[in-house]
Amino acid sequence: MNEKTVAGLQCSEVLALLSEYLDHELDSAMVERVEGHLLGCPNCERFGRSFGSMVVSLRRDSIASESVDSELVMRLLTQIDRLTTEA
Ligand SMILES: [Zn+2]
Repeated sequence: MNEKTVAGLQCSEVLALLSEYLDHELDSAMVERVEGHLLGCPNCERFGRSFGSMVVSLRRDSIASESVDSELVMRLLTQIDRLTTEA
């Protein structure tokens, strides 16, 4: 992926901040920069959207327990792996 700088953030910085962004752990100034980058960078926008919806569905499935997360992630990755190898 080509590293771009949009809204003062590099792609790698945005990706590193993405989970905190989704957890609403960033201050508003940082949220604006991340969102500014996502608006100006199709790569991160696309990745952020699929990553975001994955995190949201994982959260919904594992409200009761935090330890389930990694298990669900593994299951998801296995499914993705299977889908991509069958295709
Ligand atoms: Zn980017």
